[in-house]
Amino acid sequence: INNLDVDVAIIGAGPSGAIAASLLHQQGKKVLVLEKQYFPRFSIGESLLPCCMQFIKQAGMLDAVEQAGFQFKDGAAFRYQDQYTTFNFTDKFTAGPGTTFQVQRGQFDKLLADTAAQQGVSIHYGHTVTQVDLNAEPVLHVTDDNGCAYQVNAKFILDASGFGRVLPRLLNLEKPSNLPSRSAIFTHIEDNIDDPTFDRNKILISVHPQHKDIWYWLIPFSNNRCSIGVVGEPHLLQHLEGTLEQQLFAIVNEESGLKRLLANAKIVQECATLKGYSANVSTLATNKFALLGNAGEFLDPVFSSGVTIAMQSAAMAVESLLKQLEGETVDWQQDYAEPLMKGVNTFRTYVQAWYDGRFQDVIFYQQGNPKIKQMICSILAGYAWDADNPFVAESERRLNTIVALCRETAA
Ligand code: FAD
Repeated sequence: INNLDVDVAIIGAGPSGAIAASLLHQQGKKVLVLEKQYFPRFSIGESLLPCCMQFIKQAGMLDAVEQAGFQFKDGAAFRYQDQYTTFNFTDKFTAGPGTTFQVQRGQFDKLLADTAAQQGVSIHYGHTVTQVDLNAEPVLHVTDDNGCAYQVNAKFILDASGFGRVLPRLLNLEKPSNLPSRSAIFTHIEDNIDDPTFDRNKILISVHPQHKDIWYWLIPFSNNRCSIGVVGEPHLLQHLEGTLEQQLFAIVNEESGLKRLLANAKIVQECATLKGYSANVSTLATNKFALLGNAGEFLDPVFSSGVTIAMQSAAMAVESLLKQLEGETVDWQQDYAEPLMKGVNTFRTYVQAWYDGRFQDVIFYQQGNPKIKQMICSILAGYAWDADNPFVAESERRLNTIVALCRETAA
């Protein structure tokens, strides 16, 4: 393969890469996406947030996503012992879509990438980025599946490599996450749920009855299957014995609600585990590259924010990049990293408050003010960048005020 010259080289064809590629292509930029795997490929992260539908629409992919037959999603449900509560995402403070989908990521990511390709984006599958050179104009070193190496010269690089974290590794940008290391065990099941009150339109987050920092996701799909997973600090999962499958179902059965719901469930995919997935970086962008989605910071799966952050970062980076490609000076810290981190930090506030129990007290408090619930609902629906929402603008202080109120009245 000959060396190639493009405007923008994108590492990875997951949601952040596909959306960024489409948005740049729409503006007449020459884009090349390098993807080391072949699609469809499995990825975890199956429950979307309504906010991300805006970026899917902007990228001209809404029809394709709506027609694909994915499971409709309109909110999130939470269970702790005998308490059950729901957030309806259409009843929220911020304007914008209030519904979305629960998706098998293999199919979903392929659909986005194929739609980008139909729009005219070039994607090289089975091509792995192995090195980067930023001394002059950026150069990526790529090896294809036949072992042939070539170079891509680009004006700019977008790293959308997810947990591959290509540029953080190659450029020594890795920084430890400020969140404790947690593990997840997960699989897909044929759920055989016959409880008529079970709401397939919502992700169900269940809290472990004894350890409030262990939680489970149950994400229904449209084909009578669900994604099921458990998350906790490794020492809390240490007592589990046997195969991953035995471990997962032993802990699922510790939560009586899930045990009942999944009494007839059958595993249809090999169980998998991920450990220590939270990650951070020292630099999100310079005038030669920007990190998107998980290639930058990854917090935690509890609020299903991963794909939304991935797409939000793609849209924000493209906006700054288009200016730079037109000759304007862009301050990547001020124009990209800081505004992106505003929303990420809002999620961080809620993630931390979930694990230390503060936010769980708010979620399960039944007499809350409906206006405040709408503001919190906006964040859970992904609108964590809406500075008009007081719970975004001052996330920690506002949340703590509500926590104190709920605890006082519940006492
Ligand atoms: P990815 O989707 O990971 O895509 C990256 C692509 O880059 C891959 O296809 C990979 O093959 C490619 N790549 C990697 N290295 C190279 C290389 N060297 N050269 C070329 N290509 C390369 N998010 C949600 O929104 N909802 C959820 O319910 C949810 N649940 C989660 C549960 C768990 C346990 C975890 C750990 C995460 C969860 N997430 C969830 C997060 C979600 O998985 C990610 O945030 C999301 O997939 C990020 O998308 P992305 O585009 O950044 O990267």
